[in-house]
Amino acid sequence: MTPGPEDVLSCPRCSGLLRRWTVASGNMMGAVAWSDGRIVAPMSREPSYAVKCPHCGETFLRAQAACIGQLSPFWTEGRRSDQRITLTSCPEASRVEAMRLIRAHFPYSLAEAKSAVERLPLILADAVSYWDAMAIQEDLRKAGAVVDCVAIESLPAEELPPEEWRAAPYAVEPTELELIALAGRVESTADERVVRLLAWREGNDPFRSTEVDWVPYSSRGVARESLEKLVTLLSRNPSERMLEAEAMRQLGRFSDCIELISALDGTESPGSSTIRELAERRDDRLSVLFVAA
Ligand SMILES: [Zn+2]
Repeated sequence: MTPGPEDVLSCPRCSGLLRRWTVASGNMMGAVAWSDGRIVAPMSREPSYAVKCPHCGETFLRAQAACIGQLSPFWTEGRRSDQRITLTSCPEASRVEAMRLIRAHFPYSLAEAKSAVERLPLILADAVSYWDAMAIQEDLRKAGAVVDCVAIESLPAEELPPEEWRAAPYAVEPTELELIALAGRVESTADERVVRLLAWREGNDPFRSTEVDWVPYSSRGVARESLEKLVTLLSRNPSERMLEAEAMRQLGRFSDCIELISALDGTESPGSSTIRELAERRDDRLSVLFVAA
């Protein structure tokens, strides 16, 4: 995963500056496709569609904020950064601490960090400054993991961007409840649909770990209401009908789920048979559909 330029945004409420990272390139190696449509890819990541302001706490769509400039990833810390950090070894006993450190240093979700320590070697980041790379390497070494740091290329000198851009804090990832609140405020139904989809997946994230017991969606109060609204916003195309069927299953409406999948016969998407089988067993738990090689 190679970082792309970072957007420097101005918060639509307080005008404070915040940075949002982007990804220049990635790949789907080892990606896990979940039944709610979340793809957890250790080598790729979608930049946030909705962000939270670290200054005033407002949650807003990326598109609602003015982008006042971009920072080259090589200069985000205000100095040349060309170190590639690769996690090469992480013994079983070190995994929990290594995952915590990876999440402390990089914008990985819990599920991504878990996937990262299980699929080695893994490039954690490109374009990290030398001293940051050394500090990360030392932190992970103390936890029992091995990290390689190499300079990837000789980078051209560039003019430094304004200090206030480089000093701006990163956007915060909104929580499930903050996304649900945002979904009630956005103007278009297209945005509402995307934000409710994000809220659904965010709410399911803790359950992607095998160590967390499933809490049925039908008992999740305001989250359940949001998922019921999402169902009314999905379109009639086959991939969205599959999401609708999966939402029905997670809401415990198994016969509705089976009916929707049956209506899709002939245009079945990958994983639909898994979802159908689960619904036939009256199983409402989140499930992995497939893992990319
Ligand atoms: Zn703000």
